[in-house]
Amino acid sequence: MNKDIATPARTNAILKKHGFTLKKSLGQNFLIDLNILAKIVEASGFDEQDGIVEIGPGIGALTEQLAKKADKVVAFEIDGRLIPVLEDTLSAYPNVKIIHSDVLKADLPGVLDAEFSKGQVIHVVANLPYYVTTPILMKLLEDRLPFKSITVMIQAEVAERIAAKPGSKEYGALSIAAQYYAEAKPMVVVPASVFVPQPRVDSSVLKLTIREKPLVEVIDERWFFDVFHASFANRRKTILNNLVHNLAGKDAKAAVEQALSEAGIDPKRRGETLSPQEFARLSDALYSTLR
Ligand code: SAM
Repeated sequence: MNKDIATPARTNAILKKHGFTLKKSLGQNFLIDLNILAKIVEASGFDEQDGIVEIGPGIGALTEQLAKKADKVVAFEIDGRLIPVLEDTLSAYPNVKIIHSDVLKADLPGVLDAEFSKGQVIHVVANLPYYVTTPILMKLLEDRLPFKSITVMIQAEVAERIAAKPGSKEYGALSIAAQYYAEAKPMVVVPASVFVPQPRVDSSVLKLTIREKPLVEVIDERWFFDVFHASFANRRKTILNNLVHNLAGKDAKAAVEQALSEAGIDPKRRGETLSPQEFARLSDALYSTLR
């Protein structure tokens, strides 16, 4: 019986056996620490009858630990060179399905339908490639796929921004966009030494628990997203100036002032001081005055 994949010795042996060279451009930093993997699995909190979607299995370090505990693991890997490696390293796990695809281009609803049983609880667990962390997370959230939770290893700085509360310097459009769909909880800070090669940034494990209903109710969701994105476009500008310059246009200044007054928001405040609930009120007020 082979030892676990996620040890320095076995990882080196696998890379050597397959003559595999790591591609920095694909964010290939592989995990070589079983303790961290155990913490990721524990943070996810899935049950043995649950299904897992993994993004970027690499040589299978995390996939293996997921396959030992979950009913089924479906993993999307963009790098075709890793497909034969994974067939080799995960041959003992018949409950793993590898899909050779860029997860951003994959038909996720179709795959979930085909690979998991009806009504099965599904979680996402991944050590994400850092160059596309935000687009991947936003796709998973915005497509409203039926995931119970998303537990990911990402750059510590992005995890802080996602989980940030109003008034902090990390709080911005990404915090509201993610928290609209999910409750965000940073779980574990991870040293660079658990990866090969070591990334230059700090990492942490973030858990997003999908909400049954979005955090706030708004008349028009797309408009709400436009409003808070415009409000953070220039962090030094007031909410009034940001909305005039990045959303409504100069001619609509009076209408923006009216909406701010209706929503009970001082036009001199800055975007980072507004709670998601205040943005929701403002978005609805702007919707009636501008649209
Ligand atoms: N899960 C492995 C581990 O923890 O050791 C590897 C994680 S590594 C940080 C990221 C993996 O994602 C790499 O295997 C990379 O090839 C893959 N990847 C990069 N971009 C991707 C994309 N758009 N879709 C699917 N996989 C991707």
